[in-house]
Amino acid sequence: MPTKVNNKKASDDQFIKASDLIGLNEEIRLSLMAPDRELMVEVPLRKDDGKIQSFRGYRVQHNNSRGPFKGGIRFHQEVDIDEVRSLAALMTWKTALVDIPYGGGKGGITVDPSKLSNLELERLSRRFFRSIGPIIGINKDIPAPDVNTNAQIMAWFMDEYGMINGHTPGIVTGKPIELGGSLGREAATGRGTAIITRESANFFNLDLSGAKVVIQGFGNVGSFAGKFLDEMGAKIIAVSDVNGGLFEPDGFDLPSLINYNVKNRTIKGCGQGSEISNEELIATNCDFLIPAALGGVIHKMNAEKLNCKVIIEAANGPVTPTADKILFDKNIHVVPDILTNAGGVTVSYFEWVQNLQQLQWEEDEINEKLEKKMVSAFNEVSGFMKQKNTSMRMAAFAVAIDRVAQAYKIRGI
Ligand code: NAD
Repeated sequence: MPTKVNNKKASDDQFIKASDLIGLNEEIRLSLMAPDRELMVEVPLRKDDGKIQSFRGYRVQHNNSRGPFKGGIRFHQEVDIDEVRSLAALMTWKTALVDIPYGGGKGGITVDPSKLSNLELERLSRRFFRSIGPIIGINKDIPAPDVNTNAQIMAWFMDEYGMINGHTPGIVTGKPIELGGSLGREAATGRGTAIITRESANFFNLDLSGAKVVIQGFGNVGSFAGKFLDEMGAKIIAVSDVNGGLFEPDGFDLPSLINYNVKNRTIKGCGQGSEISNEELIATNCDFLIPAALGGVIHKMNAEKLNCKVIIEAANGPVTPTADKILFDKNIHVVPDILTNAGGVTVSYFEWVQNLQQLQWEEDEINEKLEKKMVSAFNEVSGFMKQKNTSMRMAAFAVAIDRVAQAYKIRGI
């Protein structure tokens, strides 16, 4: 079972270690560790049967030294203030790492959306957005989708905000293209993950052509990462989703696997490979293991069993801090989430810029800009890692924290 790792203590521990590396002074440390603002709201929902059910919602604004708060909104039964706090802080470091002019925020509702009808989901989304409305704004805080929220929910948010403030597409990102969403956004996180895998292969002297890749989770991020890596010549030998895994030692026919997954919303029954469990999948012998599903899937109980050379953290927080230490001792490199999956927020930023300018860029232009951002962030992180002889995670945090600290100092208080 995954262990819940997105907690503030774990992210604070990483922050403190990275701050030590850059010699960050104590006063700035304490200020950067604390969220700027936390809003907790009660969200009443009129159910289809006429009864009222109350839910708890959150928006945490961690830091805006470098620009407006930016981060997704998650609908999940396990959402709590601690998780939202930690994810908000991670957004501050992620946006700084890819050097886009944003801070970090996160939000969510403690709800299992699978238990709601579509109309209930719409009413809940709209009511939540009205509740956090006072602290949201195109230059203040720009939400986006996260676990169990999507382009449709962003459309409802935008519509709700627009009723009071006028048409404002830039108030959220990850919108449908018809409402000002960006070309290339859907594939961006997977594309960024593939770019980071390619750069990691170069850096760790592994040949990407024919490299064996294992992907856990075949949703938006996992399937697009697989598609681009397959196109780059890597061999995807194992994949999984919530219904279990498949192993195909000669490599999957990726285009047909993706088609099947799009039609059936699962890889189960696709007719390729042999069935394996998710735990077997994680232990598969490979060059790159890409967890692209949930947090906490690589933990102290299974880290010893891993048989890969590099872990590419496409999901948020897939490796627990204890597993991180075990992997370091086993000489398995971990390319951290704030670097790997930053392609999503990067193209969200491009979406916001297009909305502010009221124009639409070509997809090629977006992909080219994304490529530059990802490669440049990778080079900075790997350069720092070599210079300080530290882990890639520590290097990524250190580069990001230093950037935020510089902005914080220049602004003054
Ligand atoms: P998604 O819902 O599209 O896909 C998730 C996939 O994981 C599905 O295939 C699902 O079946 C699978 N899954 C769920 N439980 C599983 C389990 N127990 N074992 C194996 N597979 C399981 O979600 P997504 O948008 O692809 O996001 C995946 C991860 O990437 C999340 O951690 C998310 O926070 C992170 N992320 C996503 C984006 C983005 O732009 N979508 C950006 C940054 C980070």
